[in-house]
Amino acid sequence: MKELAPQMSEENATNEVNCGVCGEVVTQPVCPECLEREMIDWLAFKGENIAELLNFIKETTNIFKAYDCLNTKCVICGKKMRVCAHCYCKEIFDYMNGRYPELEDEFITHFDFNIHFKMRIP
Ligand SMILES: [Zn+2]
Ligand SMILES: [Zn+2]
Repeated sequence: MKELAPQMSEENATNEVNCGVCGEVVTQPVCPECLEREMIDWLAFKGENIAELLNFIKETTNIFKAYDCLNTKCVICGKKMRVCAHCYCKEIFDYMNGRYPELEDEFITHFDFNIHFKMRIP
């Protein structure tokens, strides 16, 4: 009887579960593309001049697509994660901060796991 081949492929596969930007384990696996969709849905109800903000959100999603895939899947679309939701939301929040002060509070309410994450850093 032949010995079963050792499962080398499993060992060689990426087991990376840490965010490509902040290096933290991804605890809120929602990918930038799904967050982008949520943000655009949310902004659709705003009457403000938000074209620049929408462009920035799309650009940020594209930038984060360049990171390597992690061994963690988005809970919404099932695609592999690259960066955590916190880092993505932080980028958007930093841009919004100052430019769209009237939207900030609502942004925090809708995408609050990012902002709380900042305060959780010891
Ligand atoms: Zn991160
Ligand atoms: Zn997704």
